[in-house]
Amino acid sequence: GTGKYKGMVEDCCCDYETVDNLNSEVLNPLLQDLVTTPFFRYFKVKLWCDCPFWPDDGMCRLRDCSVCECPETEFPEPFKRPLPSDDLKCQEGKPQAAVDRTIDNRAFRGWVETKNPWTHDEDDTDSSEMTYVNLQLNPERYTGYTGPSARRIWDSIYSENCPKYSSGETCPEKKVLYKLISGLHSSISMHIAADYLLDESNNQWGQNMDLMYDRILRHPDRVRNMYFTYLFVLRAVTKATAYLEQAEYDTGNHAEDLKTQSLIKQLLYSPKLQTACPVPFDEAKLWQGQSGPELKQQIQKQFRNISALMDCVGCEKCRLWGKLQVQGLGTALKILFSVGNQDTGDHQTLQLQRNEVIALVNLLNRLSESVKMVHDMGPDVERLMEDQ
Ligand code: FAD
Repeated sequence: GTGKYKGMVEDCCCDYETVDNLNSEVLNPLLQDLVTTPFFRYFKVKLWCDCPFWPDDGMCRLRDCSVCECPETEFPEPFKRPLPSDDLKCQEGKPQAAVDRTIDNRAFRGWVETKNPWTHDEDDTDSSEMTYVNLQLNPERYTGYTGPSARRIWDSIYSENCPKYSSGETCPEKKVLYKLISGLHSSISMHIAADYLLDESNNQWGQNMDLMYDRILRHPDRVRNMYFTYLFVLRAVTKATAYLEQAEYDTGNHAEDLKTQSLIKQLLYSPKLQTACPVPFDEAKLWQGQSGPELKQQIQKQFRNISALMDCVGCEKCRLWGKLQVQGLGTALKILFSVGNQDTGDHQTLQLQRNEVIALVNLLNRLSESVKMVHDMGPDVERLMEDQ
């Protein structure tokens, strides 16, 4: 087991050991396959940095106009050189921070030509600012993005948009938002530590245990929040079963698309999931209080702010994963809290955009990887804790 993490995941319906086994034996292997399918490996995203906050410092906008949207050959020479590490600018100049936009045309063709039945919402419309990114070519890992620019994003998320609740906090909804963000933050840090540039001079990548320990493992609450976020997103996926099962996974590659469909069904109908952890999170307990509707509006507003903040992330690859994962969380929130809620008279059926499904499943996979990493180093974690 994971030592310190025993009993039920806080506010969830399954215990740590069950989650670890379910994840390692069933869900993680399926998700790992699923995210490599043509349907799930492309993500449509506006990588243009369009930060509505801190308009005066010119950091984000200027840099992006000149760097990110240029074709490879027009890449301005100065940006290819690493910036000094104490430079206030973000470090997109580092090769590991840039997004690889190579598209596999064969797999990609179906994406464009297939009619997309999911794009009902206006904000998913194609525009020249939208880029399709092959996620498999752009793993979430260390990019060198750090310092004040990264710091102020997290600070602003925590201080303005999802304050850490005090121990006496009785409002479960506020707790949920904080834990989701903190859990996502832990997972991002896990991926940075798991795939770190250990030696820049000979481009050697590997695990940075000190970092993993310092940023996540020695903070049990951060680990717990990560499990919580995983179960929350897993619940959203299972709640959307009827929708996900019948959705179109067409990319024009028949054999691959059948595989996608089959993997989705295996995930949704995994016997182990149904018996071990059928309801990973119980959303029906929320929004029961008197101020339910207003509270929901307030929290929705906070979440929209967090998602707007992703446009201020000053490293392209971090922005890609930040946007994807926040959109994935937003999709989970929509599935669990916005649809078919009798209390609010909302009888509409679930509709998801194609991109939302892609974000949701890729987010679940990222969390699943992080949970697996913590689990796999079980004895190591305990030893580290004993060293304290
Ligand atoms: P940070 O991770 O920046 O944390 C800041 C403060 O938040 C901490 O001091 C602590 O008080 C608090 N905190 C930390 N973790 C938690 C938690 N789990 N729950 C609650 N509070 C916490 N860098 C990369 O190399 N690759 C990436 O892909 C990447 N993606 C990013 C995506 C986003 C959206 C953002 C905002 C940043 C990203 N970064 C990425 C930068 C990275 O997250 C860190 O900010 C950076 O590595 C500096 O880390 P730090 O040690 O200062 O602590």
